[in-house]
Amino acid sequence: DSAKPSNFLRHVIESDLQQGVYTARKWGGSPGDAQHHAQGMQDPAKVRMRFPPEPNGYLHIGHAKSIWLNFELAKEYGGVCHLRFDDTNPEKEEQEYVDSIRDAVRWLGYATDLADRPDAAGTTQSHEYFASDYFDFMYRAAEYLIGAGLAYVDEQSAEEIRANRGDFNTPGTDSPFRSRSVEENLARFRAMRDGQLDDGAAILRAKIDMASPNINMRDPALYRIRRATHHNTGDKWCIYPMYTYAHPIEDALEAITHSICTLEFEDQRPFYDWLLDRLAEGDLIESPHPRQYEFARLNVTHIITSKRKLRQLVEEGHVDGWDDPRMPTLAGLRRRGYTPDALKLFCERSGVTKSGGWIDYASLEAALRDTLDPIAPRAMAVLDPVKLVITNWGELMGGDDALDDCTAPIHPHHHEMGRREFKLGREVWIEATDYEDVQPKGFFRLFPGNKVRLKYGHVIECTGGTRDASGKLVEVQAKLVPDTKSGTPGADAIKVKGNITWVAAADALQAEVRLYERLFAAANPGSGELLDELNKDSLVTCTAYVEPSLAEAAGGAGFQFERHGYFVADTKAATQGQRVFNRAAGMRDSWGK
Ligand code: ATP
Ligand code: MG
Ligand code: MG
Repeated sequence: DSAKPSNFLRHVIESDLQQGVYTARKWGGSPGDAQHHAQGMQDPAKVRMRFPPEPNGYLHIGHAKSIWLNFELAKEYGGVCHLRFDDTNPEKEEQEYVDSIRDAVRWLGYATDLADRPDAAGTTQSHEYFASDYFDFMYRAAEYLIGAGLAYVDEQSAEEIRANRGDFNTPGTDSPFRSRSVEENLARFRAMRDGQLDDGAAILRAKIDMASPNINMRDPALYRIRRATHHNTGDKWCIYPMYTYAHPIEDALEAITHSICTLEFEDQRPFYDWLLDRLAEGDLIESPHPRQYEFARLNVTHIITSKRKLRQLVEEGHVDGWDDPRMPTLAGLRRRGYTPDALKLFCERSGVTKSGGWIDYASLEAALRDTLDPIAPRAMAVLDPVKLVITNWGELMGGDDALDDCTAPIHPHHHEMGRREFKLGREVWIEATDYEDVQPKGFFRLFPGNKVRLKYGHVIECTGGTRDASGKLVEVQAKLVPDTKSGTPGADAIKVKGNITWVAAADALQAEVRLYERLFAAANPGSGELLDELNKDSLVTCTAYVEPSLAEAAGGAGFQFERHGYFVADTKAATQGQRVFNRAAGMRDSWGK
C-alpha cells in the first residue's frame, strides 16, 4: 500500500519474509518444551507480533501507539498479533486492569483472540496469553541454565549486589557466590522455590560478565523471592521471574517473530539474545528465535503517560477517576469523544522512528477533527445563552405563540444522512457573545441596526439589548425581516455578514456541557512539580440549550456543535438519565491564542 508511510520496521519484516527466515523453523519436531506451546500455531512462516502490557494500570495513549503498530503490522503482512498480559509482578497486578486492558484493545478494533490456534478438537479457539502460564517452563529453563553453569544463586544483600555491580566507569566485582558448584546452585534454587529462604535473601543470577561495558550484562537477576498471591497462579509460587528474563521467553514460546519495544529497552537486547541463544542451544526453544526491535516512545505535549503519576492524579482527586475525559487513558479519551479511527490516524501521523521527541497536542486534536468532520452529525447548541426576543413575531407570523418549522442537513456534504428539524419562535436562545451595544471593529453579529441571519431561519435586524444594574446582558431585541427564510425564493435578496446559531426557547433542551481543555498547562509536563503543571481551567461546566435532535443522543454518540467543535454525549451521565455533553475539541486549535 503505497499510501502508507514507510517505516524501518516494515523494511525489517519484508527482508525477513523475503529470506524466509521464519520458514526455517522446525515446528513440532523438536523434543524440547517449545513444541508444547508452539504446536498450536498453524503457520510458522507468518509474521507474529505481540502487545505485552503489564496489568498494573489503565492503558494510555502511548500504549495505543504500540497496539496500533503491532496489530497493524501483523495485519499488513498477513500475520497475527497476541495480546499478552505480562503478569510477572504479583504485587501490582489486578483483575480490574486485565479487564480494562482487554476492553481497550477491543475498543480500538483489534481482536484479542488468536484465530489460527486450534484447540484439541481442531476447531478454532479464542485465546489470550498470560506470561504466568509459562511459570513452569521458566522454572525449568532456569534449572537448565544452572546445569549448564550459566546461572547461580547469589546470597549477597541487595546493597552488596548494587555496590558490586559497578557503574559506567567501573567494572563490577564478582560475587563470592559466583563460583558455587552446579549442585549447590541447584540445591539453593530449589530451596528458594520451596520457601526455605526469606524474601530478599537470595536471587538467581545469570553468569555472564561482571566487566561488561553493558551493565545489563553484569550477571542480571533472573528470579527473586516474593511471597505474594498472584492473580492467576495464586500461592503456587514464592519465587517470580524478573521481567528481563521472562519477556524473551514469553516471546519465544509464542513463536513471536518481531518483538517491538520502546527505545529504553535497547540496552536489554544483548541479554534478550544471550538468553534465547542459550535456551536454543539447550533445545528448549526453536531457532531462529524472535528478535527485538526498538522504536521511540510516544510523547505528546501537555500529556503525561507515566502510570505512577496518572495514579497520583486519580488518588489525590485532581481528576474524576481513570476515565476522566481529561485523562490520557484510552478509557478517558473514549469518554472525551475520541474514536478509534481518530487515535489510529494520530498514531500513523506521529510516525515510527528511532529518535524520540514530543508530538504537539494540536496534532491529536487535528486527527480527531479530520476523522469526525466527514461523519459527525451537526447540531446547534447555545453554550452561553441569552434570550433574543423577536418583537414583531406575532404580527408577522399570526400570533406570539406561533412556531415556524425549520430544517437543516444532518451533515452539510452528506445529504443522504437526512435532515434535522426544529422550530423558530418569538423567543430564541443565542450566544451572549453574539451581541454588542456598539459595533467593535470587524464584528458583524448583533448590534443595534445590524442585520444577521438566524442560521437555517430568517434574517433579523437588531433593535437593542437590555442590561441589568450590574451591566450583565439579560435580553436582546430584534425584528424579523419578512420573506427572508432560508431555502425560500428570494431569501438571499438581503445580504448579511453574520450568520448566528440559536435554538428556539419553545423546543430547546437544557443540557450540561463540560468544556474540557488540556489537563496540563505545561507543554512538557513531568519535569517539574506535577500539581504546579496542571491547567487550572481544564474543566469549565456550563448550562446550555441544545436543539431537539439531541433528545435521544445515546451515551458515546458524537456530534459537531456548529461553531463550537466536537462533543460527545457522556456515557456515565447517560446511564443515569442525565443529558451531558463533553467537548472533545474545539473547531480549531485556539490554545494560547
Ligand atoms: P509504565 O512505565 O508507565 O508502567 P509501561 O510502558 O511499562 O508503562 P507496559 O504495560 O509495560 O507499560 O507497556 C506495554 C507496552 O506498551 C510496552 O511494549 C511498551 O513499550 C509500550 N508503551 C508504553 N508506553 C509507550 C509509549 N509512550 N509509546 C509507545 N509505546 C509505549
Ligand atoms: Mg512495563
Ligand atoms: Mg515501564
